[in-house]
Amino acid sequence: MSFKQFQFIAQINTNINNCGYEHPTPIQEKAIPEIMRGRDILGLAQTGTGKTAAFALPIIQQLLKTSRGNIRALILAPTRELAEQINTSFKELAADTGLQSIAVYGGVGKNPQLEAFKRGVDILVACPGRLLDHLNNHDLQLNTIETLVLDEADQMFDMGFFPDIRRILKHLPKKRQTLLFSATMPADIRKLAEETLTNPGEIRIKMEQPLDLITQALYPVSKRQKSALLLHILKENPTDGSTLIFTRTKYGAKNLAKKLIKAGFSASALQGNMSQNQRQNAINGFRDGKYTVLVATDIAARGIDISRVAQVVNFDLPSTAEAYTHRIGRTGRAQRSGHAVSFMCYDDQAMVKAIERLQGESIKRISIDGFAMEEANEQPPKQKKFQSNARRKSSKKSTSQPSGRRKKNPESNTSKSPHPKRSSNIFGLGQKTKKSSS
Ligand code: AMP
Repeated sequence: MSFKQFQFIAQINTNINNCGYEHPTPIQEKAIPEIMRGRDILGLAQTGTGKTAAFALPIIQQLLKTSRGNIRALILAPTRELAEQINTSFKELAADTGLQSIAVYGGVGKNPQLEAFKRGVDILVACPGRLLDHLNNHDLQLNTIETLVLDEADQMFDMGFFPDIRRILKHLPKKRQTLLFSATMPADIRKLAEETLTNPGEIRIKMEQPLDLITQALYPVSKRQKSALLLHILKENPTDGSTLIFTRTKYGAKNLAKKLIKAGFSASALQGNMSQNQRQNAINGFRDGKYTVLVATDIAARGIDISRVAQVVNFDLPSTAEAYTHRIGRTGRAQRSGHAVSFMCYDDQAMVKAIERLQGESIKRISIDGFAMEEANEQPPKQKKFQSNARRKSSKKSTSQPSGRRKKNPESNTSKSPHPKRSSNIFGLGQKTKKSSS
């Protein structure tokens, strides 16, 4: 199949060529004709499938038919990095067409965004928080929107953005085309789809996970020995390429990156507490080889096109089996082989079972002398017996809310739940609390 069959205008075809795309990917084959017909779309697809171009190309073609200078396409994305990435794709695919696009998110000054609105924008890629901020300040209007894209809807849900999204929807015209993409489709996403889409075409693209190209291994270890085991593995089994390490918390990512730098590795963290510039430098540095090791949280790394990683290390296991598959899929790309190394502590065993059930086979265990799972040390501390009722109540309270300051943020510094099965979110990234990244 060729891009010619879509009958894009000549400049778009030139831009597709300049991007080096020879053939449409499966999601592009399916979605582009439907979107060009004006249909709403419910797409079950992950980053890495070519979904950005699948919606960007027909949007650009459509926008070139009507007058410029008003915001006519709005793309909502969960993270700043993804918003930048989508905006870059639009800029490349709409090069020399005169269409203007901008990425709008928090953590950076508002003035350049306000100036861009004044100059005129056709395509707005935004994180929900900052966009709502602009709407509340009457900085822009969205009543000229023709197409709305909700990208990575499940991550936006995980990050607590749905109330903001529902507020933003009130500013949009009812008559519009809506495209909703999500890597998973739990009930909350279906509900949003029912509220926002009209008779949508459903497109499911299974991420081709080349699991047979990835060698997977589990290392039983105690929590306190994880850093030492990581250094041991990185030193004893050096890979021919870069290593992407996942931690559960922002604090964990920051700390581990520091330890690795101290041990002589060119490493960087990628986590939500870093400034936008620092996050972009970390991604760029990892892509261009300045950093051979990147220590990231799921939220900071999801949706970002970091491919061709030689090794993925689950320093902390994720809380869902699907997230594990997604993480290890960052390696073993483009027919190259890859390694996925996971640390397994005492209270990770239920999750390991879930992962193995999903994969339909068990993962090889590797024991290294001096490193072992320590059952006794991994148990949460037990309450003292024979407390008075009153003391028992107050100590219960303090277990669930230590010092009354327990953060709910998915990337917060709380330790991993000892009950992975109870985790309610799709990617197990914690409670549905609004994240400050947008
Ligand atoms: P996405 O899923 O949109 O994040 O895209 C993943 C990667 O695939 C990006 O680096 C795109 O530039 C690339 N890509 C998108 N469409 C094509 C295509 N038709 N052929 C080759 N690469 C593509």
